Amino acid sequence: MADSLLAKLGDLTFTAEEQDAVVVAPDAVAIPAEDFASSLVGKVVSPPTIDGSRLIRQFRSIWKDDKVLNISEINQNFFLISFASPANRANVLKRGPWDFQKYWFALEQADPNRTIHDYSFLHMCIWVRIHNIPLSLMTVALARVLRASIGKVIMTDTRLEDGNMGEFMRVRGLIDTSKPLRRCVVLSRPDAKASMCPLQYERLPLFCHGCGLIGHSVLACPTTTKVEGQKFQYGAWLRARLPKCSAARPRGRLSIVDDDLDVPVTVDLAPEGPSVRPDSNAANASASAPEPVPHPAATDPPRWCPPPAGSVMINVDGAFLPSARLGAVGVIARDSSGAVLGGFAKPVPVRGPASSVEISALFTGLEFTIANGWPSALIEFDAAVLVNKLHRPTVDLSLLGDLLAPSRALIAASHGCLRVGFASHSANTAAHALASWACHNDNVISFSSVCPELISRIVHDDLSSSF
Ligand SMILES: [Zn+2]
Repeated sequence: MADSLLAKLGDLTFTAEEQDAVVVAPDAVAIPAEDFASSLVGKVVSPPTIDGSRLIRQFRSIWKDDKVLNISEINQNFFLISFASPANRANVLKRGPWDFQKYWFALEQADPNRTIHDYSFLHMCIWVRIHNIPLSLMTVALARVLRASIGKVIMTDTRLEDGNMGEFMRVRGLIDTSKPLRRCVVLSRPDAKASMCPLQYERLPLFCHGCGLIGHSVLACPTTTKVEGQKFQYGAWLRARLPKCSAARPRGRLSIVDDDLDVPVTVDLAPEGPSVRPDSNAANASASAPEPVPHPAATDPPRWCPPPAGSVMINVDGAFLPSARLGAVGVIARDSSGAVLGGFAKPVPVRGPASSVEISALFTGLEFTIANGWPSALIEFDAAVLVNKLHRPTVDLSLLGDLLAPSRALIAASHGCLRVGFASHSANTAAHALASWACHNDNVISFSSVCPELISRIVHDDLSSSF
């Protein structure tokens, strides 16, 4: 709208009064510039108009642990997102790209001096795997050489399992989405045969198998002629399978290759985002083999992991709105292949502190498991205090101990078939989203093997990161 209005003004002659500029003093700016340091703007790159309120609900839930304060839709498919701190904002950017209903949810740092029309959302930061590289070229230095091919390379993963560095090299690059996805790089050396190196992308949003552009499917492609039996130039093979769940991963370091720096530097992997240490020791560390570093579980919450074959995992969670004294529970069951077996979300009466809602979630999850007759089940939730209380052999005379008694009785009666364990927040997001939805909507949802849309992305991500 603003662009077309400006175009209309382009040929007009203005009066002196209209040309008299209004001077805006710095102290007249209503929003302090520093507020923008913790904010992002986001746009869903999608031909259809998406349901903004649904996106807001979904990402408030997904970014709960990132301390998201507010998400507002300020134009069609365009959002302003604020976090508690710049570190929270950076952590969300670091884990991108994000998508909503498979369409790319592009994020950029909010700038106090730009209008919503000044953001291009053209560049996507994404992990790229480069296959078939000769072993002698599996180096951080190669990442710099690749700049001309796959875009600015920000980071190289030199860990020996997740970064692989044998079958493939894993780099984080800034790709230009106005161009079709690049499918390969050819490495040429004067003294050796050229190598064709196929590319794969991690967490790639919807893209067109016909033209290779991000943001539409081949069915909606304006340039691809659809013929029955046609072989497309792009395909699902461009998507990389994500690393296995982190609980089993060896620890290591990422090497940062910032094109604005003279030397590569290393950073410890941490959920808050890498803190660059551009000193000579760090540079030396990146040049040698990755050095294992201690990595407490508390700073690296594992993703959801499937249960062993023959077992069912039931994730449960509670949500509580203190102002309204409203509580709700969410329960989802999945098997060892990650397939959804069923679940529900529903409001529950609040009969005590907020923890009582978690206890209700556990109890309803246990009842649900028994009702389905699953012979071996692991019920997980993210209330560590309650899990510890359950596993304590001594009699618990506290209020929470009292509230846990019915759950204890069900577990004891199962003779080992029902076990309860702790899940980190990030491994329990599906149950959390269900509980949060029921709490905010004061409504009930029940499902069997067909996963409801409100958690489909979470279930998909859980699955992708676990196999
Ligand atoms: Zn297309």
